[in-house]
Amino acid sequence: MADTTANPVYDVVILGGGSGGYATALRSAQLGLNVALIEKAELGGTCLHRGCVPTKALLHAAEVADVAREGAAIGVNTQLNGVDMVGVNKYKDGIIGRLYKGLQGLVKSSNVTFIQGEGKLVGKDTIAVTTAEGVQNVSGKNLVLASGSFSKTLPGLELGGRIIASEHALKMDFVPKSAIILGGGVIGVEFASVWKSFGADVTIVEGLPSLAPNEDAALSKALERAFRKRKINFKTGVFFQSATQDDNGVHVTLADGTQLDAEVLLVAVGRGPQTAGLGYEEQGITMDRGFVLTNENLQTNVPGIYAVGDIVPGLQLAHRGFQQGIFVAEVIAGQSPLPIVESGIPRVTYCEPELASVGLTEKQAADKYGADQVQTYEYNLGGNGKSQILGTQGFIKLVREKDGPIVGVHMIGARVGEQIGEAQLIVNWEAHPEDVAHLIHAHPTQNEALGEAHLAIAGKPLHAHA
Ligand SMILES: Cc1cc2nc3c(=O)[nH]c(=O)nc-3n(C[C@H](O)[C@H](O)[C@H](O)COP(=O)(O)OP(=O)(O)OC[C@H]3O[C@@H](n4cnc5c(N)ncnc54)[C@H](O)[C@@H]3O)c2cc1C
Repeated sequence: MADTTANPVYDVVILGGGSGGYATALRSAQLGLNVALIEKAELGGTCLHRGCVPTKALLHAAEVADVAREGAAIGVNTQLNGVDMVGVNKYKDGIIGRLYKGLQGLVKSSNVTFIQGEGKLVGKDTIAVTTAEGVQNVSGKNLVLASGSFSKTLPGLELGGRIIASEHALKMDFVPKSAIILGGGVIGVEFASVWKSFGADVTIVEGLPSLAPNEDAALSKALERAFRKRKINFKTGVFFQSATQDDNGVHVTLADGTQLDAEVLLVAVGRGPQTAGLGYEEQGITMDRGFVLTNENLQTNVPGIYAVGDIVPGLQLAHRGFQQGIFVAEVIAGQSPLPIVESGIPRVTYCEPELASVGLTEKQAADKYGADQVQTYEYNLGGNGKSQILGTQGFIKLVREKDGPIVGVHMIGARVGEQIGEAQLIVNWEAHPEDVAHLIHAHPTQNEALGEAHLAIAGKPLHAHA
């Protein structure tokens, strides 16, 4: 055991160098705090190495495959001659490598003390870190827990062989001929989209009644329609029962007796908080099913211990982790940052077609204000020039408090994720339709559809029927 008296006491010690942890570190250092960041694997965490970035690289490769396959339909004589996963992975890993290097440089130049090792909370102000040299106690006036999440599976369903989670799927050096995907949430539909574009036969199994079940019902329904058109198979409202695997493939039985066979089974049933065995409970931190509970300042019940990212109940998204990290650093530095409103966090699902939403769904708005106090409007992308050019279908649905502000924006269509920036300003700044209708949206862009939707709900539609 190292001599702990020789160690400095940091202002902030952060456990976990993913989106939440490194954002806390960078902002704390900017504010002049003395910071240590502990990471057992790679700086950047899930998002950079096993999450957002690699999946979006695969989705871009999938889009290129679709464009090549469909070029002739618009007079460009391309054809898809195959997908070389070694080349796709090289492209994906190149992106990760460049961003990783950049992030390492950023942390280094920010005067953050980076400690490579596995940490465990051993006191209310101390983390014991097992490094290559031995165990080192790292103490701080404030601790921030940011240990992230792991791929969950179901009882009796063990990962291994042909039964894989997203981190394994990202490393595959071949396109499976067929795949069953357990879970029709964000990760499930994104992989379904990639594999279908790469030529696999895909079937999604979702226990809830629809794909993308957390989205507005109109988006879920439209996604199902689009997936049917793409010949992505799915079964909703039916639960998984069991799976076996052999040399021929994986064999899945569903609760309604359906048998499905495929080359691989991707388990995408959600992410659990990575908190077991890390000493959190022993130090008296209040937990709920593995998640760390916090107050509105992201402080746990133990003074001086905070938590950010996927271990805090709520949306498990990288940009939520970034903002929580910035927020906590500012709280620790004695500032009073504006609280983070969970419903104002933008959500994008990058399958083809994309889903993008922010704010309340129609149902959530009806529950909050009463059904007769909610107005909605759907602007069909059929009337949007750029969407016609791209050959995409979809719509923008606005949810408004009657005679009040826009409280939700829900979009589906190719590339609509790029429109979420304006949508989130509209919702978070509580804009009224007239505020947006008066602003000019460039033509021909898909962004124009957002302007058109607001013109229409403000009672003065342009390229839409009244
Ligand atoms: C396939 C997939 C796709 C995704 N796509 C998106 C997307 O498009 N957009 C989006 O916003 N989000 C996406 N996410 C979610 C996003 O990756 C997470 O929300 C985000 O990474 C959470 O950040 P975090 O800091 O809480 O945890 P993590 O990024 O998981 O980081 C936690 C870090 O803590 C380290 N750690 C854990 N325990 C210890 C310990 N004892 N000692 C030292 N270090 C430890 C881990 O090694 C890890 O690096 C995706 C996730 C997956 C799996």
